[in-house]
Amino acid sequence: MDKTIDPKLLSRLLKLYNSVEKHYSGRILGSMTTYPHPLAIYAYLLFMHTNAADPVIFDELKYMKREILKELGKLYGCNCEGLVTSGGTESNILAIYVARKISRKNSNVVIAPDTVHVSIDKACDLIGCKLVKIPTNNKPLNTGLLEKYVRKHDPFAIVITAGTTERGLVNPIRDSARIAREYGVYLHIDAAYGGLIIPFLYKHGYLRENLLFYKGINSISIDFHKNGLTPIPSGVLLFNNRELYEHTCYEAKYTLYGKYCGLLGTRPGGSIASIWVMLKIDKSFYEKLAIKMYKYALITYEKLSRFNELRVYKPILPIVVFRHKYIDSEVLLRKLLKKKYYLYRAPSLNGLRIVIMPHTELKHIESFINTLKVILEEVKK
Ligand SMILES: *Cc1c(COP(=O)(O)O)cnc(C)c1O
Repeated sequence: MDKTIDPKLLSRLLKLYNSVEKHYSGRILGSMTTYPHPLAIYAYLLFMHTNAADPVIFDELKYMKREILKELGKLYGCNCEGLVTSGGTESNILAIYVARKISRKNSNVVIAPDTVHVSIDKACDLIGCKLVKIPTNNKPLNTGLLEKYVRKHDPFAIVITAGTTERGLVNPIRDSARIAREYGVYLHIDAAYGGLIIPFLYKHGYLRENLLFYKGINSISIDFHKNGLTPIPSGVLLFNNRELYEHTCYEAKYTLYGKYCGLLGTRPGGSIASIWVMLKIDKSFYEKLAIKMYKYALITYEKLSRFNELRVYKPILPIVVFRHKYIDSEVLLRKLLKKKYYLYRAPSLNGLRIVIMPHTELKHIESFINTLKVILEEVKK
């Protein structure tokens, strides 16, 4: 070992590592993060030194990106352009940015159902557009209402979420695409969470809506650091043509490549390598995973439903939301936190959110249910 490394420092680092929460403890139940796949970690580490903003020096990244686009093209039925991003937030900001840039309208309005992810609010704040939200009462978007809003507000872009953050709703993708096409509006599909689940649940008959690049869709964002088992940060933004992608590029003459595309400058080549290797691992890897997560979500739903005092929402994607009929969710959340269970909130339903992620095991669900049982017995007294 290099003598300049202070062993005391290393032991402090290791101590912090040992105490930090790990996904395999089964206690992180509300977050959309997971423990990356060993092969994805290895790929990331091997390409740790590479900069994805420089595909000239690191030519192999360009090759891997092409292959990623080809694989995703097969999944979503497109001949797509696109880029690897740091995740859903960057992808969404870029999509709105491009939509605004190419729009010939005077309109400054983006329309989305009110279940849209906060990164779209952020995108509109940054870009200076106005986000008009369609009330949905936490139901899939009514496309009749969408059409009304499009007529009234004449937006330059529509954002439809395929797998909403709080509840896992899948909005009507195909019908929204038809409306966007009819009115000549840019359509972005935010499938950051649902992108690697929806096509497989559809294929197996668990979902009525599929995620495909229907005519009328301009871009789709998919996170890989959620259900794709790659290290953070990694997402993909797909465009339906090269011209849209080129709009994310800025000339940078001093570099070998001559331009920077996307929002970031220097960015991890490791993200590209890890997505590439995961897409090559086994043709049905993500499919099997999606079905497993969905089945675990159904099991969680059934177990929670046995408590009479809980109102539980049936999972659409592997997300289970529940609330206590009498106790405030915030109180329940605190009680669970005290027992080191980390759930997230579903504020629009006044509930708590469990997301079944790739690392979630049945024994994790059982332990959680047992802890919840103890808490619910306590509050009865
Ligand atoms: C997670 C998520 C985002 C944000 O993605 P990050 O990778 O956290 O930046 C955006 N939209 C949806 C629907 C998401 O689930």
